[in-house]
Amino acid sequence: MLGNQIRTYGANEMILREGDAGDWAYLIESGRVLVFVTKDGEEVPLKILGKGEIFGEMSMIDNSVRSATCRTLTEVRLVTVTQDQLLDRIKSADPIVRLLMRALLDRLREQNNGIRGKTLTSAPPPNPEKFDTERREALERIGLENELSQALDNDEFIPHYQPIYDLRTQEIRGCEALLRWVGKDGKIVPTGNFIDALEQSPLILNVGQRMIEMCVDDLVRMQSEIAGNHAFFVSVNVSGRQFADPNFLSHLESVRYRAGVPADRIKLEVTERIMTEGPLAISSLQACRALGYKIAIDDFGTGFSSLQYLASMPLHDLKLDRSFISQMMASEKAHSIVKTLIHLANQLNLNLIAEGIETREQLFLLRNLGVQMGQGFLFSKALPYDGFISLMTGAAAAEKKAA
Ligand code: C2E
Ligand code: CA
Ligand code: CA
Repeated sequence: MLGNQIRTYGANEMILREGDAGDWAYLIESGRVLVFVTKDGEEVPLKILGKGEIFGEMSMIDNSVRSATCRTLTEVRLVTVTQDQLLDRIKSADPIVRLLMRALLDRLREQNNGIRGKTLTSAPPPNPEKFDTERREALERIGLENELSQALDNDEFIPHYQPIYDLRTQEIRGCEALLRWVGKDGKIVPTGNFIDALEQSPLILNVGQRMIEMCVDDLVRMQSEIAGNHAFFVSVNVSGRQFADPNFLSHLESVRYRAGVPADRIKLEVTERIMTEGPLAISSLQACRALGYKIAIDDFGTGFSSLQYLASMPLHDLKLDRSFISQMMASEKAHSIVKTLIHLANQLNLNLIAEGIETREQLFLLRNLGVQMGQGFLFSKALPYDGFISLMTGAAAAEKKAA
């Protein structure tokens, strides 16, 4: 059955019984529910649950039978929760959280069996392959986190810079700093291999701070080496977790102040997911805006189903996700979406930056549609500092020659 249902029960009604198959979990909207196990025909109470609490979730998670019985104590209103709703979230959780959950679940079951004095035999055998995969993933994740922590200590994280162009004049207007992990062997570890693990671990706070320090220092050097390009900016990716860190803003301000860089040269790229990060992250974003930092929404159009935030959030740029750009030549629908997003950005007075421009056809089309700025492999991939400076000075020399 699809979707959530509301169910109401009178006092003293049985909702689920130990040993039964689990088909729903329940969220209590109102009323109270008693959870108990039966030992030698006697009820042994475990817990009384109230508004906002969930029950019946254990057998949903690992597909086993109910390990306790639940009966209403008062009139009760319940919202049903489907297995898909739980499992989708668990699947997308950090593997270490999944392992922890598995351990807690096993322990709870053992506890219930201990009180009951016997194991519920009708439980289907657990899926050993799945357990192994979960344990392996958690171990891998812990291993990767150790490596990331060592990489931080060894200064193996550095920014590379991808130029961002004015699509009309083809001038470089700024750059996006992209995190690179240069391993001990000098090889770059692909960012996609570790960025999720990094963002899910507290290490992102330290790595993020180091990135900001390096990018701001590099920006000062860039400005002195590339004379004449006054409004040059560096765009830094900041995860929601960094924004929610109470030290984020004071650190950013102290780095910027020490370097003597105006706030409007620094752009903070956040994804739409920040809207789900909680009030602290949002107020910190607003504070950054008030201090003059530029704010860009990254991967625009891919993350968040509500556009409400566009009206309430203090933004400057929308970065049109690469997926739209790569599809827009072949797909009429992607083309329409791009046009609609351009219209939306214009109406809201936001600057649009197209990401992942790879072909001249894409460039021409975007320019004709009125997109102001863009970046992509057609122009350049992200380069280490020196390479980026060579590109900038080479471009400036070519412009002079042409003039
Ligand atoms: P993003 O912010 O969307 O960055 C753009 C990604 O697209 C980069 O991948 C870039 O190398 C790649 N790219 C640029 N132009 C093209 C193109 O024309 N074609 C194709 N196919 N790809 C292009 P990268 O560097 O691997 O970064 C992946 C993601 O990791 C970034 O996506 C961003 O979400 C995250 N990330 C990178 N640096 C940082 C950082 O310092 N902090 C945080 N929190 N996340 C970061
Ligand atoms: Ca970005
Ligand atoms: Ca992006």
